[in-house]
Amino acid sequence: SHAHEADLVRTTCPYCGVGCQLRLHVKDGRIIKVTGVESAQPNQGRLCVKGRFGYDFIHSSERLTTPLIKENGEFREASWDEALNLVADKFMEIKEKYGADALAGISCARSTNEDSYNMQKLFRAVIGTNNIDHCARVCHAPTVAGLAQSFGSGAMTNSFADFSKAKMFFVIGSNMTEAHPVAATFVKNAVRKGADLILVDPRATALKDFASIHMPLKVGTDVALINGLMNVLITEGLYDKQYVQNCTRGFEGLQATVMDYTPERAAEITGLDPDLIRRAARRLASVKPAMLIYTLGITEHTCGVDNVMSTANLQMLLGNVGFECGGVNPLRGQNNVQGACDMGALPNVYPGYQKVDDVESRFKFQDFWDVLLDDKIGRMMPEMFNGLKDKSIRGLYIFGENVANTEPDISHVEHCLEMAEFLVVNDIFPNETTRFADVIFPATAWSEDEGTFTNSERRVSLVRKAVEAPGEARPNWWIFKEIAGRMGHQWDSNSGAEIWDNEISCLAPQMAGIKYSRIQNDGLQWPVPDLNHKGTPYLHKDGCFTCGLGNFKALEWAPPAEVADEKYPLVLSTGRRLYHYHTRTQTGRCQGLNDLLGKETADISIADARHLGISDGDRVRVVSRRGKVELTARVTPEVQQGMVWMAFHFREGCANWLTNQAYDPVSMTAEYKACAVRVEKL
Ligand code: SF4
Repeated sequence: SHAHEADLVRTTCPYCGVGCQLRLHVKDGRIIKVTGVESAQPNQGRLCVKGRFGYDFIHSSERLTTPLIKENGEFREASWDEALNLVADKFMEIKEKYGADALAGISCARSTNEDSYNMQKLFRAVIGTNNIDHCARVCHAPTVAGLAQSFGSGAMTNSFADFSKAKMFFVIGSNMTEAHPVAATFVKNAVRKGADLILVDPRATALKDFASIHMPLKVGTDVALINGLMNVLITEGLYDKQYVQNCTRGFEGLQATVMDYTPERAAEITGLDPDLIRRAARRLASVKPAMLIYTLGITEHTCGVDNVMSTANLQMLLGNVGFECGGVNPLRGQNNVQGACDMGALPNVYPGYQKVDDVESRFKFQDFWDVLLDDKIGRMMPEMFNGLKDKSIRGLYIFGENVANTEPDISHVEHCLEMAEFLVVNDIFPNETTRFADVIFPATAWSEDEGTFTNSERRVSLVRKAVEAPGEARPNWWIFKEIAGRMGHQWDSNSGAEIWDNEISCLAPQMAGIKYSRIQNDGLQWPVPDLNHKGTPYLHKDGCFTCGLGNFKALEWAPPAEVADEKYPLVLSTGRRLYHYHTRTQTGRCQGLNDLLGKETADISIADARHLGISDGDRVRVVSRRGKVELTARVTPEVQQGMVWMAFHFREGCANWLTNQAYDPVSMTAEYKACAVRVEKL
């Protein structure tokens, strides 16, 4: 090729769960530009601002380039051998002294499937515990638990390709424009071509301009609203009786509960007009199939699992599950949070959702890995942190997650991390979490190693190597393999491709037909049961659910764990903004994105601002029972009265100093979407 031409490398975006296909333009060992892959699935050439401009972090001078060991409170550089030996020795010592369950691991939803697979294998097959989890715990664990109960599978039922073709959208708790931008463009285009959109969100997000009905419900009242909608559908005979009869069970129980949620009662709880609820139900029933889309507005509540099952109830009642352009579509946040779940980075399931407490599954994995496995379900992330505090967890391994900023109640989390006897971290940058580590391993970043991501619509796509890693940074799968080797377990697979082809696709039935040779272009959507299968664009075909009949679940509404009172009269809800991603580990090192958004704000309503004497741009203090932060007020009509909205991208002004560690009892997902605060003018 010509000396001045860039090499082109196709890969998958490192940010959100849409999983856009990118072309990296690589010159002199550096990525100099990113473009979309024309007519590729799922993005058809489109990219958002993060995918297009969020790549220069990999070339940052702040990258971790050698292993680091903490000595007398200071990090010093170490060789790989020394650091790996130290970790293996210390893990064996803790296991010997306190048992395998005194060790726990948190995997990474940003890194490849092969990395997560090897990490859970290290914990299960080498250390001997199921104490492995990842950040699905704080986002879509309610989806995995809830949809598995309703449908038999926790995955997004349909495909992004349907977003362009659907005739009716019901979007609830999903600010797609900022969190899943390319997916939002498909919905907006469909609306421009005549599709209908009903939006349920406490905020007037950008999608409102495209919605025929916007329902700005009070935070945490989703179950009451959906029960109210179903009340209208049943009372007015607008539901799909044949589908309900042939494809589902539990309708009588649902009906009995839903009858108590008249539009008037639902209106009282949600703060909406009863006639709006009636109108929305009728409209929703008027187009078939309708596509339901949700994100963390549904899941991050103490009733997250109930919220998820409510969306499933609604779509089954309408007969909308099992068809193109229908279904229940939870949009995954991180690029590989679907994959990290699929790979078994969860305390209750092996790769492919095979249960650790199921004897046959355990025997299968014991045979394949040639080890004895523990049959006890492991700890979930909040239980790991509490374990550090009560010393039942002695050693913690955190892979690529900045938990000191992302978990609710930062003061609590940092206190727990301080208590860790031995903390190991794999990361690409020093961050608020690595400060607490005893050993830091420098890992390769996206585009420095080969592997796969699985996007929100179950599509397994290749992530290709385009540039060399800096210094001595090494692949995460290799780090886990090396520790296993030093603990007496030699593993054969020696690349992402070998791990996938020789282990994952042999173990996870959904992936049996997926080999690297088959996913060079647009990838494949699981389940792919055999090598000739073309992939599955939508699940539960024609209402034949993975679990046989779909399960209706009668659900009662319950308020959030913390509600507004005299001392804390406002409700804080949290989420993401367009220009940054999580705690900015990556986007904070992208100049273009920092220029677009350089600080956090507290978004408050015009009415509350007037009442508190606050003008747009004023400095304010936001106070909860857990902490306080000082930041700039943004007075906006997007936010309803009684509500404050903040993100968690910046350490300064991070919403998680304030959020509540109150959890859904089933999924242990924290209530990031609702806690009580007050706002003071500074
Ligand atoms: Fe990347 Fe998501 Fe943006 Fe696509 S929509 S470019 S996957 S961040």
